Amino acid sequence: MALAAIFLDFINNVRDKLIDGWFIARDDLERDLESFERLSDEEVLLTSHLSYRLRGRIQGRPAAAEIALGSLQDLRFVRRDQRDAGSIAGSGAAPSTATAAACVPSSFGIALDIGHDRAHPGAIGASGTPEFEYNQLLGRAAVAALRNAGFATAFLIEERGTPLGIEERTRIAAERHAALLLSLHHDSVQPRYLSERTVAGRPQRFSDLFHGFSIFVSGRNAHAKQSERFADLLAQALLTRGLTPSLHHAQAIPGENRPLLNARLGVYRFDDLVILAGASMPAALLESGVIVNRAEEQAIRQGSYHEAVVAAVVQAVGDFCRRGPGGR
Ligand SMILES: [Zn+2]
Repeated sequence: MALAAIFLDFINNVRDKLIDGWFIARDDLERDLESFERLSDEEVLLTSHLSYRLRGRIQGRPAAAEIALGSLQDLRFVRRDQRDAGSIAGSGAAPSTATAAACVPSSFGIALDIGHDRAHPGAIGASGTPEFEYNQLLGRAAVAALRNAGFATAFLIEERGTPLGIEERTRIAAERHAALLLSLHHDSVQPRYLSERTVAGRPQRFSDLFHGFSIFVSGRNAHAKQSERFADLLAQALLTRGLTPSLHHAQAIPGENRPLLNARLGVYRFDDLVILAGASMPAALLESGVIVNRAEEQAIRQGSYHEAVVAAVVQAVGDFCRRGPGGR
C-alpha cells in the first residue's frame, strides 16, 4: 500500500472509532500507531492539516473532535521523538513512552495569546493604563525571549489588538500547530476592594490589598493533566524568581470562589474559561500581576517585573518540552 493510502487509512480509523465510541481504546491506538510509524516525515507533517479537517468531519461532536485533535497531536510527538532518537522500533509504542522524549525547541510551537483587545482592553491599572497594553508588552517580550532560546516557532495571537473572538484564537493556535497555549493577562480585584483617588484631575481606582500572579487551567481542556503540569512548572519558575502567588481568586465572595489546585503555587481550576477549554493543546492562563496594586503596577512599568515573568515562561516552556507529553 502506498504510504499516502496508509496514512489516510490511519486518519479514517481514528475518525471512525471516535464516531462509533466517542473515544479511542488504547489497544486500537497502538495498532494505529504501527501504521503511522511507516510514514515519511513529510507525511507525518500532513497530520496537522488532516487533523484540522477532522473537525469538519465530526460536526456536532465538538468533544470528540477535541479528543481526535489531541490524540493526533500526541501521535505526532511520539513519531517525532522516535525519529529524533533514531529508533523506530515498531513495537507499537503508546504515547506514554514519550516520557523520555527529546525536546526539539525549533518545532515545539508555542502560542502566546495576548488577552483582550484595544476595543475591550480588560482591567484598568491604578495609573489608568488598560490591561491590554501590559499584556501586549509582556507577550512581545516573551515571544522574543522564547525565539532567542530556540523556540523559533513561538508566535503571538492578537498582537495588534484588533478584536478577535475566543474561538478564533484557539483556531489560530491549532492551525499553526501549537503544542502549548499560554494566555497572558494582568489581574484586578473585585470592586468591593477598590478605593478611589484623583490622578491628573481624573478619578482612578486602585487596591493595594493583593499582589502577585495566578495561573488557571481548565478540567475541560483535552489535555487537562498536561495543562496542569505546565501550570505547576510555570508557577515554580515564577517562585524561583521571587514572585509570589495571589490567592484572592479563592475567596468565598461573588465573582471569585475559584478552587485552588495548589495554594503554594497559585494554580487554580477554572473549567469554563473558553480559551482553555476550547484549546486543542495543553493550555494555561497567566494573570502575571495585579495592576490595580500601585506598587506592583510600578514594578511592571519599570520592566523588572516582566523581566522575571519572561524568564520564568522561557524556563517553564523548556522544562515542559523536555519532559515530553507524558512526563511528570
Ligand atoms: Zn484579562
